[in-house]
Amino acid sequence: MSKELKNYVAGRWIGSSTTFDKVSPFNGAHVAKVHEASATLVDEAVTRGHEVSIGGNASIWGDLPLKQRLAVIHDLADRLEARVEDLVEAEVADTGRSHWQASVFDGARAARLFRSYADAAASLENRSMQFSGEMGFQGMWHSTRRPKGVIACICPWNVPILMACMKVAPALVMGNSAILKPSEETPSSATVLAEVMAASDVPDGAFSLVHGFGAGSTGEFLASHPKVDAITFTGESGTGSAIMKVAATGLREVSLELGGKNAALVFDDARMDAVAEGMTRSAFFNCGQICFCTERAYVHRSRFDEFVEMMAEIASGIIIGERSHNGFSIGPLISHGHRDKVKALLDAVPAHGGEFVAGGGIPSFGDARDNGAFVEPAVAIGSPEDSPFVKQEAFGPVLHVAPFSDEDEAVALANDTQYGLATCIWTENLNRAQRVAPRVRVGHAWINSWQIRDLMSPLTGAKASGVGDQGGRLSLEFSSLPQTVTTRIFEEDPAWP
Ligand code: NAD
Repeated sequence: MSKELKNYVAGRWIGSSTTFDKVSPFNGAHVAKVHEASATLVDEAVTRGHEVSIGGNASIWGDLPLKQRLAVIHDLADRLEARVEDLVEAEVADTGRSHWQASVFDGARAARLFRSYADAAASLENRSMQFSGEMGFQGMWHSTRRPKGVIACICPWNVPILMACMKVAPALVMGNSAILKPSEETPSSATVLAEVMAASDVPDGAFSLVHGFGAGSTGEFLASHPKVDAITFTGESGTGSAIMKVAATGLREVSLELGGKNAALVFDDARMDAVAEGMTRSAFFNCGQICFCTERAYVHRSRFDEFVEMMAEIASGIIIGERSHNGFSIGPLISHGHRDKVKALLDAVPAHGGEFVAGGGIPSFGDARDNGAFVEPAVAIGSPEDSPFVKQEAFGPVLHVAPFSDEDEAVALANDTQYGLATCIWTENLNRAQRVAPRVRVGHAWINSWQIRDLMSPLTGAKASGVGDQGGRLSLEFSSLPQTVTTRIFEEDPAWP
């Protein structure tokens, strides 16, 4: 049933005269009418957020003793857990993914993130030291982490609730106000999060939700607002660059997690059964819409034919568009617009001399799913290394496969991209794996696996894949300011009068 999704600002649900429709990429059905937040409403969210984090009413949230704030966050996590089924339904409706996938990888991890960040904040150490300064002054300094103020959390659509919680949780636990701007493609789970916030003890204004688009809309109003103190953004590299430009006005800090064109290296001694399992997930999980997904596989010449045959068979057999399937399957791309982009890259493959060994087209179901944004998982060989299919991020279920002869060539091929997000190294020779991993210029290298990931581990992108770091302690540090307080210690007390 179609819903109406409003903005949640300063403790109130606020509609707008401008709305847009969210439709399902699964079958084109209407999911929700969404209220776009205006510049005035964004200003209200930022102003109130500033007040309760570092402004005149900071005692409400920013100055609340850590223990009390963390108790509120733990209670929030309990409430979020109680709504897990609603989160799952929201993700299924907005993205078309299966109920199984949304349960295991999205809903269940949301509450856990709030708990993990609360625990990590509780064990953050404050530093102190006694010292002698110039002119013989004795002193003691201690440094504590203070909230930065208002943190804008601007999110993509690929793992909506997870991405939102990865940004909102560290911001809130450190005493900031968080303003969440979900993607226009995935407004539903963020709305469930806002409902949970509204019912919790998180004070009005410490969390706001504003819906809308990017440039010329809510995203830009938020990023360019002078009272936003820091921006954490995940999305395309081009958008990251636009956000960095507006953040330069007012010298606001940014943390940007951006695009990728990740390469896997399959060496001659790789265990092909493990490669089959890992590569299936890394190329096709979430229909290829995970920033860490592999879109290029470089395979030692001696195993190339075997690998191509194996991946062609796997890709051709993947279950597509069965939302009730309990296990690995793929849903649609997020929208018809995104499918047009992926399809254009696929169509360029034969034009540049490449050849599909699997996929390359759009599946036909003979039912309402034909109104969806599906695409067949594709594996292609023979594409030149400088062709669009090899160079541009598809963010879809696509795999370019090419051979290499030795380690140096494999590393050079992996690094021949503007991006630097992730790699997978498949070999039984751990010596080689440890030698190669640091030579591939990426933020995350997996050895004989993909996406075995502790969400509190550091998340960084090299080159055009990111600026700044996130994950665990790094996100807590981004969300706070180390304030040093120095006290002079007199050698003796002054004589009493
Ligand atoms: P996108 O850049 O189009 O949009 C992301 C968000 O930014 C949306 O909420 C959008 O409304 C907003 N936005 C767009 N233009 C804006 C502007 N000028 N000012 C302020 N906000 C603006 O990205 P997307 O299509 O939603 O997501 C897919 C991209 O995200 C892919 O490139 C993928 O690689 C990347 N991604 C990266 C990571 C990572 O950790 N590195 C994780 C997930 C996704």
